[in-house]
Amino acid sequence: MKELMVLGGGQLAWMDAPSPALGSPRSALVRPIASASCDLDRRLIAGMTPFKPPFALGHECVAEVLEVGEEVRGVRRGDLVSVPWKIACGECPQCRAGRFTACTAVPRHAAYGVPAGGNWGGLFSEVVHVPFADAMLVPLPPGLNPLAVASASDNLTDAWVAASRPIATRDDARVLVVGGTESLGVLAVQMAVAAGAAEVDYLDDSDYRLDLARKSGANVELDRVLDERYDVVVSATRDPQALHRGLLALAPGGHCSCIGIIFEDPKIPLFGMYLRDVTLSVGVCNVRPHIPKVFDLVATGRCDPLLVSPSVVSCEEATEALIQPLAKCIVVRERIT
Ligand SMILES: [Zn+2]
Ligand SMILES: [Zn+2]
Repeated sequence: MKELMVLGGGQLAWMDAPSPALGSPRSALVRPIASASCDLDRRLIAGMTPFKPPFALGHECVAEVLEVGEEVRGVRRGDLVSVPWKIACGECPQCRAGRFTACTAVPRHAAYGVPAGGNWGGLFSEVVHVPFADAMLVPLPPGLNPLAVASASDNLTDAWVAASRPIATRDDARVLVVGGTESLGVLAVQMAVAAGAAEVDYLDDSDYRLDLARKSGANVELDRVLDERYDVVVSATRDPQALHRGLLALAPGGHCSCIGIIFEDPKIPLFGMYLRDVTLSVGVCNVRPHIPKVFDLVATGRCDPLLVSPSVVSCEEATEALIQPLAKCIVVRERIT
C-alpha cells in the first residue's frame, strides 16, 4: 500500500509500505476516502516543527471500513467513519474521564500523522490500522457528505470545542476570532455563530481568509486598537503577537481558547489578564466525544466546512496540492467496499 511520506527539505512523496494487518480482536483496518490537510501539515512538511522526518502525514479523514476484529461491535465492513487523530483505548482511567488525548494504554502522544508515541501511520495512507475500533471510530449518519466532515478528525471539531465551551456559559457573548492558519479561524467563526454568539469579529492579515470569515458571519472591519470588549477570544494563530493582542482584548471575566499551535514560548500579558480576571485555555483537542455533535451541525447546515476547503484533489495531485499556501485541501480516493 502507499503512504504519503514527509521526507524533509519540504519534500512529500507517496512511498510503498507493508499493508497493516488486524492487530487484535478490537482493531479495524480502514481506507481513507477523503483526507483533509490539517493546519499543522504544511509546517510539518516544511520542517518547521519539532517532529523530524521521515513520517507518514495526515490526521484528518473519513474512511471506509475494510475489516474488523471479532470483538468490534460498532462498525462493520463498508461503513463510512470519522477517524480521530488521537490513538485511544476508551477504557483506561484517562479515557473514561473523557481525556482521550492522555490515554495510558498507548505511548504518550500516540497519534496519526506525527512521529510521536510510536509509528501509527498517517491518514492520507491507503490503509490505516485502528487499534481500538469501537472506542475511536465514529460512523457517519446516512446522507452526510464525507467531504464536508473530512476535518472532523481534528480541526473542525477543535474549532467547535474552542468556541462553544466558553460561549455556552455566557449570555450574548461577544467573540473575537484571531485567525492566521489555513482553516481554524474561519471554522471557529462558523462554530461561534452556531454556538449562539451575539457577535463575532475576525482579525487576520490575509484578505483571502477575511473574505471567508465575512461569508461565515463575522465582522472583519475592526478598529486598529481593539478595545477590551470580548467575552470570548478564540486564538487560531501561530503569531505570538496576534495572541497577545487577543488576550488584551478580553473583557473582564473573559475567556481565551488558544488552538493555534505556537512552538516557541510566547509573551503572555499576565498582569493585564490578572486585572480583568480572565482565563486562558490551551490544549490538544480531545475530539472523539464531540464528533457526533459536529456531524449534526454540518448535517443541519449550521456550519459549512467546505467553504475553507476549495481544492479537492486526487492522490496523484496530492503532493503538489498539499504544499500550496493558503487553503485547506481534501485528497479523495475511490471507494472499494
Ligand atoms: Zn492536526
Ligand atoms: Zn485509554
